[in-house]
Amino acid sequence: MNKEKLIKSIRNVPDFPIPGIQFKDETTLFKDADCLKELSDELYEMYKDKGITKVAGIESRGFIMGPILAARLGAGFIPIRKPGKLPAATLEESYNKEYGTDTIQMHKDAITEDDVVLLHDDLLATGGTMKAAIKLTKRFNPKEIYVNFIIELLDLKGRAIFDEEDNVEVVLAL
Ligand code: 5GP
Repeated sequence: MNKEKLIKSIRNVPDFPIPGIQFKDETTLFKDADCLKELSDELYEMYKDKGITKVAGIESRGFIMGPILAARLGAGFIPIRKPGKLPAATLEESYNKEYGTDTIQMHKDAITEDDVVLLHDDLLATGGTMKAAIKLTKRFNPKEIYVNFIIELLDLKGRAIFDEEDNVEVVLAL
């Protein structure tokens, strides 16, 4: 994988969505055919031997590479969504954000005890969203859970809230 090329393809947008935030915009990576292929190949290499049966992507940027990876792995895809978006019965988990709380939901029949689940999101900031997704997924009692991000923002030290057993891996650490 040409890491430098992938990193260079990510656009930095100052003051989005609020002043002071340096937003990492991956749309510039996804629109580049070579970069999209390289990222997809790298993700496939990372997980091809893990027996993954379901890839669960977190709304909304986890819905871009999540299904691409699921199809390549021969796994199913599950959306993890904000409240009120999933049509059938759900399980949910709430978590604290910098200001207030947030909730994520999964369909009650999304995962079985025979599944090996890969949780995927585009970016690790504080890790709060993914930690809640792990908690939610554990309630389904799957065989194994793996966790993946495309980008880790090292300065935010979000990695610290995960345990060894969370099997966290990232493609690009910035
Ligand atoms: P966390 O829960 O780790 O603090 O926040 C991660 C979530 O916020 C991810 O779902 C991610 O999409 C979003 N996020 C936070 N900062 C950025 C950013 O700079 N770029 C992108 N693409 N997403 C971000």
